[in-house]
Amino acid sequence: MHIDFHGGLPKGCEICLRGAKLVLFITGICHKNCYYCPLSEKKKGRDVIYANEVLIEKDLEILLEGRAIDAEGTGITGGDPLLRLRRTLRYIKMLKEFFGSEHHIHLYTNGIYASSEAIFNLKRAGLDEIRFHIMDKIKGLEIAKEAGLNVGVEVPAIPGEEERLKKLAICLERMGMDFLNINQLEFAPMNFLQFKERGFELEGNNVVKGSEELALKIIKWAEEEGLELKVHYCSSLKKDQLQYKMRMMRRRKNIIRPYEEALEDGLIGKFLVEVEEPYSIRRKLIKTLKLKPNMIGVSMYEKGLEIPRSILSEINKILPKAKVKYVKELPTAIRERIEES
Ligand code: SF4
Repeated sequence: MHIDFHGGLPKGCEICLRGAKLVLFITGICHKNCYYCPLSEKKKGRDVIYANEVLIEKDLEILLEGRAIDAEGTGITGGDPLLRLRRTLRYIKMLKEFFGSEHHIHLYTNGIYASSEAIFNLKRAGLDEIRFHIMDKIKGLEIAKEAGLNVGVEVPAIPGEEERLKKLAICLERMGMDFLNINQLEFAPMNFLQFKERGFELEGNNVVKGSEELALKIIKWAEEEGLELKVHYCSSLKKDQLQYKMRMMRRRKNIIRPYEEALEDGLIGKFLVEVEEPYSIRRKLIKTLKLKPNMIGVSMYEKGLEIPRSILSEINKILPKAKVKYVKELPTAIRERIEES
């Protein structure tokens, strides 16, 4: 196991790693155009809002998604949230009002529009931490510190950029900033060609070869230099498997229905009985088997009933011709089906 941080973790990361952070994607619009931008086609350049995986149409849906994971904090991302400043301010206030002032909020920006007015307004609305996606010193860093925010920089570890990263860390240290977060560089459908053109090689499923080595080298160097600055490496594995899985576990606890089973791998399992008229058969079964109404559900996906394991043998007797299968779903808002047997 590698040591992947120096000097501790920023509070936003601590909460995120427990799966307790709501990811609020404010807009896909951004004026920076980084060649390594990982945004997907459904988000990049589009003025859409997502809370975790849920496309948002009404503000209330953000709060419901936060509730579903018992959110202890929110990470506001994009695109560039500062391009939709009024929206961002409104949501920061809304989240703080609903979840309480201790609900920790951090925000990512490329810094292009980080004016004094914007930053002080963010602080006044309740923002706790700001992360700049920059490789060089910008004015926004000092303004954010002056406003009383926890301030850091978050960048990918691009192979060949060791000296540039060290220079950035020294600059942040001298400026009295709080942290430098280094992410593993990931291949994504929208950046694949750009990466290939630059000669990057794929390692494993989706990461760039050499990115992790570079990030770990910077952590070791920060340790040896005795930097005050916190330096933290966030790997793709940590982000996708650990953090995402923890978030799904929290979500599952709150959304699982009485007839469903919590499986070891974080999924939700249940029996599905295929029937032509699910609503009328459901009413009859509830009456005949003297069940509480919440013990049988109607499937969102097909003509069928969702039932608990405990009534399986009765169902086989009452509906001997009905096909029964066991399905496994992710505990997301749309409950993607992973497997059926
Ligand atoms: S700043 Fe972020 S959202 Fe904008 S292009 Fe770069 S990586 Fe993509």
